[in-house]
Amino acid sequence: MANVLIIGAGGVSAVTLKKCALLPQHFDDIYLASRTLAKCENLQQEIGKDRIKAVFALDADNAQEVTTLIKKLNPDLVVNLALPYQDLPIMDACLATQTDYLDTANYEPKDLAKFEYSWQWAYQAKFKEAGIMALLGSGFDPGVTNVYTAYAAKHFFDEIHYLDIVDCNGGDHGQAFATNFNPEINIREITQPGRFFENGEWKETAPLSVREDLDYQNIGVRASYLMFHEELESIVKHFPSIKRARFWMTFGDAYLTHLRVLESVGMTSIAPIDFKGQQIVPLEFLKAVLPNPGSLAEGYTGKTCIGTYITGLKDGKEKTIFIYNNCDHKACYEEVGAQAVSYTTGVPAMIGAALMLNKTWHKPGVWNMEQFDPDPFMEMLNEHGLPWHVLECESPFTK
Ligand code: NDP
Repeated sequence: MANVLIIGAGGVSAVTLKKCALLPQHFDDIYLASRTLAKCENLQQEIGKDRIKAVFALDADNAQEVTTLIKKLNPDLVVNLALPYQDLPIMDACLATQTDYLDTANYEPKDLAKFEYSWQWAYQAKFKEAGIMALLGSGFDPGVTNVYTAYAAKHFFDEIHYLDIVDCNGGDHGQAFATNFNPEINIREITQPGRFFENGEWKETAPLSVREDLDYQNIGVRASYLMFHEELESIVKHFPSIKRARFWMTFGDAYLTHLRVLESVGMTSIAPIDFKGQQIVPLEFLKAVLPNPGSLAEGYTGKTCIGTYITGLKDGKEKTIFIYNNCDHKACYEEVGAQAVSYTTGVPAMIGAALMLNKTWHKPGVWNMEQFDPDPFMEMLNEHGLPWHVLECESPFTK
């Protein structure tokens, strides 16, 4: 028996649940808990009580509450698909109950828009001692992009020198301004300064100030902006031959204009303000008025293209490859009622969970995705809706 407790009932969770439900060979009993019980009940009704055995209201900011629920259900694995703020309380509850843990995004304190692995890596010794495992960042980026890097290192290179992760959403949801995953987390991320790794140091750039126009497979040329993304931090640590590592994401002009206006009037701030005698956080208010990312799925057209350009040495010769996936919004909607950004995150969370539960990827401690054999994960990507391709090419970057 391999039982799993999934925490969070948003866009990503809905995809993971539906994929896990189809795989009784990996997942026996599935339990679901989240802040809003009604969302769990709706998913249980949609997927079936035979697969989602029970649902619970849970405040995952409260480690004690999570501990009590884990003790009651005794799952083999807790899959955290709530928000990054809940990573540490859920990891504490896993430690208290000696239960394995998986997430898709690194910890962020609520009152500080800063994301890095230090807080979760600090659990390494405690998890090891307890004989339990945490798998960090089992989404697409982070997640699949880390596995692509490990796959390239294993099969294509003797040494990796340059890494550029590119994330293009070439889709159209028809809204003036909307984010494709949790708006609060997304806007906190993209309004940060850019950061990249070069010759052993981290270098900072002004937010969204460095641009490359890149040609994406089956999409076309899109403006791509340098940003910091958490997988850079773990990948450069685990592949010390890397001389430069960067992350790029595409944004359209209309999106950037909306974002700049919202920022300039203070709507993206996380500092509380006094409003009619109440303290409110402007960004939390903005989240409440923006479309729910899950609601974008119906009628969403176009594709995503997310991948990793890697340049390095093989048999003394320099070469570049691009490993990537195209994911179609409409096809995701037809399969699981979701848009491609939720799908590309929810499927790798299911795969990571399956590999942990069947012990293909299992060792005590806190690990990033690139620290395991990439082959079984790459195989499951092909089987479960995220097929990948490898191109030998020239590096497309002018900078
Ligand atoms: P949503 O906002 O759609 O869903 C988050 C869910 O978590 C909601 O159901 C929410 O409850 C629940 N939740 C929030 N706070 C708590 C709490 N204190 N206790 C219990 N439940 C809580 O987000 P997404 O599904 O879009 O994103 C989920 C995660 O995936 C995020 O961490 C995001 O950063 C990550 N992600 C990772 C990607 C990757 O490629 N690695 C890409 C995209 C997302 P309620 O319904 O009440 O609001």
